[in-house]
Amino acid sequence: MTRLCAAQGDTGRGERWYCIGRADHPGAHTDDHGRARYLPGQALQELVHRWGRTHRVAYTGTLWVAVHRDPHTHWRTEIEPTPELLEVRLREHHGPPPGPAPELEPGPVPVPVPGSVPRQRGATP
Ligand SMILES: [Zn+2]
Repeated sequence: MTRLCAAQGDTGRGERWYCIGRADHPGAHTDDHGRARYLPGQALQELVHRWGRTHRVAYTGTLWVAVHRDPHTHWRTEIEPTPELLEVRLREHHGPPPGPAPELEPGPVPVPVPGSVPRQRGATP
């Protein structure tokens, strides 16, 4: 017997969606209208991955909020009921997504220069 995916969520329009995929399906969840659906944690991760460079993104439990890191920009704060709408609004006002914040990208690992490493507190010489 095939188990079904247990994912469900809020459509943002006062209704719930239920995933019609199998329990182990890959990728996004799919509702009974064939729309891709994301759980809040997933959707938040994706938004941060796409917009983290310019925006801080948060989910309040009912609303999706994106705040631009530059306090002097136009359209500093976007608030929408669903992650899809937030994405649409961000693209309208800011163009294509700039990517993740620099601190989230894998960067070069700093190599300690021999002789310059400070002694650990309590280390014996
Ligand atoms: Zn699913």
